[in-house]
Amino acid sequence: MNRTRSICLFCGSRMGNHDSFRSAAEEFGASVGRNGWRLVYGGGGIGLMGAAAAAAKAAGGSVFGVIPKHLLDTEAARFDIDALVVTETMHERKAVMIANSDAFAALPGGPGTLDEFFEVLTWRQLGLHRKPIHVLNCGGYWDGLVALTENLAAEGFAGRSLRGYFSVADSVPELIEGLRSDLP
Ligand code: AMP
Repeated sequence: MNRTRSICLFCGSRMGNHDSFRSAAEEFGASVGRNGWRLVYGGGGIGLMGAAAAAAKAAGGSVFGVIPKHLLDTEAARFDIDALVVTETMHERKAVMIANSDAFAALPGGPGTLDEFFEVLTWRQLGLHRKPIHVLNCGGYWDGLVALTENLAAEGFAGRSLRGYFSVADSVPELIEGLRSDLP
């Protein structure tokens, strides 16, 4: 089937403390746009998420935002977004983002990013979806996350297969290559 593939982005609503985070988010957004994929994300104009979405648009990509109504006035993207769905709750937002995506990518972020990552990882472990999950380990930012997931399995609180449900890339081109092979 030849339809547009959608990549769901989870990443910070803040910029973080290193310029490399912003550069990586912009490089990722631009690459998604250039590959003809649609970017699904939290609909905000702030932080790494806003930087990635603006770069995707500038590269000619299509951007689909999903934002809960309590953030609409303060955080919604000000650039020309292709579609914006407004949800009642954060829970509903996550469900809409996940349902409308073919693959997931987590860039550096905070608790919201972790919440989204662990939701898709947990659902994958339970067999509720089979969509690929990628992590951009920008400058080793997610080393602790990788170690944590390995420890969950080592201590008997997750199957050994848990670590196999997501890929870790050290650079944006490596992550994009992974997405390309997932979504031929
Ligand atoms: P965080 O990593 O805590 O900055 O949260 C960002 C991620 O969680 C994004 O991928 C969003 O989908 C979602 N999110 C959590 N809090 C917010 C917020 N205040 N504004 C926009 N998105 C948020």
